Amino acid sequence: MMPGQDIEVWYNADGFAQFVDFCGEAMSIKVYMLPLGPLQTNCFVIGDMASSDAIIIDPSDQADQIMELVEREGLTVRYILATHAHFDHVMAAKAVREATGAPLWLHQDEIEQLRHMKSIAARFGLTAPAPAEHDDTLAEGDVIEVGAIRLETLYTPGHSPGHVSFALRSEQVVFSGDCLFLGSTGRTDLPGGDYDTLMRSIFDKLLPLGDDYTVCPGHGPTTTIGHERATNPVLLGWGGQL
Ligand SMILES: [Zn+2]
Ligand SMILES: [Zn+2]
Repeated sequence: MMPGQDIEVWYNADGFAQFVDFCGEAMSIKVYMLPLGPLQTNCFVIGDMASSDAIIIDPSDQADQIMELVEREGLTVRYILATHAHFDHVMAAKAVREATGAPLWLHQDEIEQLRHMKSIAARFGLTAPAPAEHDDTLAEGDVIEVGAIRLETLYTPGHSPGHVSFALRSEQVVFSGDCLFLGSTGRTDLPGGDYDTLMRSIFDKLLPLGDDYTVCPGHGPTTTIGHERATNPVLLGWGGQL
């Protein structure tokens, strides 16, 4: 079976949690996708079912839902990673960090936004909890490895200044945060956003991963690099690629 080809998706009774299962040739990695909070921001739990090690990407909200899944599956969370620190991606960071004891890592250029997430949320008319402390920073090329899970950090700014994506090459999956979505891309009108920078990130870092890669975005359903390369109107409309 080809890595990344055996994807199963379920919704629970209220259409709430989505479960995506990838099993590579030599390992058993499961990726759980939970759309959480007022903006239905996807939180991903990547579990190595052989060692029970897990990594959380974007502890978006509703820490109880995240922890329920972690406990039900018997996982030990080793790292909490954030693609960026817009409040909707880190609302549960403090609670999940405290519940798991796992360190929170994100790019240096997102720390300011993390500290100010309350005031940014207030601009959207939403109330955010106190921000989490971060434990370390991530940069292009950094590899986070636990059990059979090996995540490579891709620096993909443009939606926010220190936005990163994570490639799970063994399964041909990329966690694209708010860089690339099904049929659209992240907005660039928030502080530190820049449209051409975002396009360069997508064209230089994400599209070269290859058409077979599954894209697990920060919002909405999964897609593939091939589908977005062929049909995404924002990418097709960008004149800068030549
Ligand atoms: Zn964002
Ligand atoms: Zn978002």
